[in-house]
Amino acid sequence: MKLTIVGRWGAYPEKDEPCSGYLLETKNNKILIDCGPGVLTNVQRYCSLDEIDYVIISHFHPDHFTDIYSFQYASMISMKLAKRRPPLKIISPLKDNKSKEMKYGEFTESILYDEGSILSLNDVEIRFSLNEHPILCYSIGVHHENKYFAYSADTQIGHNLIEFVEKADLFLCESSLYENMEKEIKGHLTARQAGNIAHSANVKKMILTHLPHFGDHEDLLNQAKKEFIGDLYLANCGDVYYI
Ligand SMILES: [Zn+2]
Ligand SMILES: [Zn+2]
Repeated sequence: MKLTIVGRWGAYPEKDEPCSGYLLETKNNKILIDCGPGVLTNVQRYCSLDEIDYVIISHFHPDHFTDIYSFQYASMISMKLAKRRPPLKIISPLKDNKSKEMKYGEFTESILYDEGSILSLNDVEIRFSLNEHPILCYSIGVHHENKYFAYSADTQIGHNLIEFVEKADLFLCESSLYENMEKEIKGHLTARQAGNIAHSANVKKMILTHLPHFGDHEDLLNQAKKEFIGDLYLANCGDVYYI
């Protein structure tokens, strides 16, 4: 699998840099995981929109999905121009009413998931695990050829997150907060908590993402390193990882 960081910011985009968006590619798939503000423009640096088969939405907070509305429109125009044949497939939480908006005429197909769903998309298998977050939100696990990629999406320390990401070859984990903010803000992880999850789950490699717009990101790395001694990276737009 090849993972490209399309966007890495929590809450709102920065100049030229989007919120959450990650392009996962295999031989038979191009899957966009989350589609926050700015993702639709930036992902075109790496592939054409027509090549993207699936978009998976972890949850309906604006920093994770709002560019999907433009993508629906892009799918419509592309299909009318006969550039895209199958409609864009949008995978989103079954129990969130917003999922009803993911169907856009014949130009998108809506696929719904729930805790415990297993989706087989060509050569990958995708699982979901419920997070602890103010609205319904799921971590996403992708298996492909004996490799495992796990994405935390947004969560605070949760009941089964460690089991879900266990032994991941690559763990993409939110790190919205600095260590000293643990008690101030609920629903997110500090860098140190992210490091602790990676350590407890015995993951091989971790990327910190969903970054805050303040402070020094090097501190996030140093705080995660107190708990996790494996390979550790900060998400940067355009960075590519092979899993
Ligand atoms: Zn978020
Ligand atoms: Zn959120």
